[in-house]
Amino acid sequence: MTGLRDNFQRTIDYMRISITDRCNLRCIYCMPADGVKPIEYKEILSYEEIIRIVRIAAGMGVRKIRITGGEPLARKNVTYLIASIKNIGGIEDLSLTTNGVLLEKYAKEIADAGLNRINISLDSFRPERYREITRGGDVEVVLRGIVAAERAGLIPIKINMVPIRGFNDDEIEEFARITLTTPSHVRFIEFMPIGAKDIWSNEKYIPTDEIKSIVERIGPLTPVRARKSGPARYFRFGGAAGVVGFVSAITHHFCGDCNRLRLTADGKLRPCLFSETEIDLKSPFRSGASDEEIERLLKLSIDVKPEGHNISNRTDLKFLRPMSRIGG
Ligand code: SAM
Ligand code: SF4
Repeated sequence: MTGLRDNFQRTIDYMRISITDRCNLRCIYCMPADGVKPIEYKEILSYEEIIRIVRIAAGMGVRKIRITGGEPLARKNVTYLIASIKNIGGIEDLSLTTNGVLLEKYAKEIADAGLNRINISLDSFRPERYREITRGGDVEVVLRGIVAAERAGLIPIKINMVPIRGFNDDEIEEFARITLTTPSHVRFIEFMPIGAKDIWSNEKYIPTDEIKSIVERIGPLTPVRARKSGPARYFRFGGAAGVVGFVSAITHHFCGDCNRLRLTADGKLRPCLFSETEIDLKSPFRSGASDEEIERLLKLSIDVKPEGHNISNRTDLKFLRPMSRIGG
């Protein structure tokens, strides 16, 4: 099969796979202060189960896989999973989203295993503030991880920053300036009302237009026409080496370009980040479902994929599964 289309003529060729809900940080916008009750180990998909799902999905037209978490590098032997997925026929692009804490240790190993690209979440360069946002992290460790990733050839380096008013919005310009001299992608992600029940408020949320106007203090931005850029919109300063991206989950619906499905660590397919609809793959898997049955469930999850979300109606916010359980 060459491609999967949903009911709204979107081609679905991308699957984000959360391989663990556990994390070595506790970011204030992602998890409540007292953490999230971990999913029991026996409920977490094994690597063999994930590999089987990817093989079936690749046979149906999925071409891109992103491994995420919780913190994916914190799950043992992730290199084995990367190498196995990379060897599945049809998978053209394999990437990973990480907080970077273990990157210095693993960058070369995962690049050698076939990982194509990496996104690193970093919300402040200031040690004190980084510690506060992540509830205990050390920014120096992450910066060393970024250097290791560049050396290992995991380029372009993509840095994801979530600007939060009163926490780190005074660093937006500094982050954007990185792209003037390095070929990095710096992406600003709107703070979403997921997981962070204890700190979310309308006041702390900064819409993309406002983030973009702060970035434009540096100079005018020209749109970059990126092929299949997914939910991010990319721009470049004149003569800059890198690009600035904006992921506007709330203000500018990115739903029209949505090409993805999400698989949670406990084996649920989520057709939409903001919808609680989930299709259980794990139970049929563990009771001996055939590949055809799994294919049917994958198709079903595409059939129920909504046209868009209504989260911009922020008077009716619901806090869904914490982000650490969905994978972003
Ligand atoms: N632990 C890895 C990391 O931090 O990159 C991967 C999982 S994390 C859940 C994936 C992405 O979700 C990160 O870039 C993080 O910044 C983002 N994220 C988590 N909670 C968020 C929220 N409430 N609003 C916006 N982005 C969020
Ligand atoms: Fe962990 Fe990533 Fe969530 Fe931070 S954003 S707590 S690093 S899963």
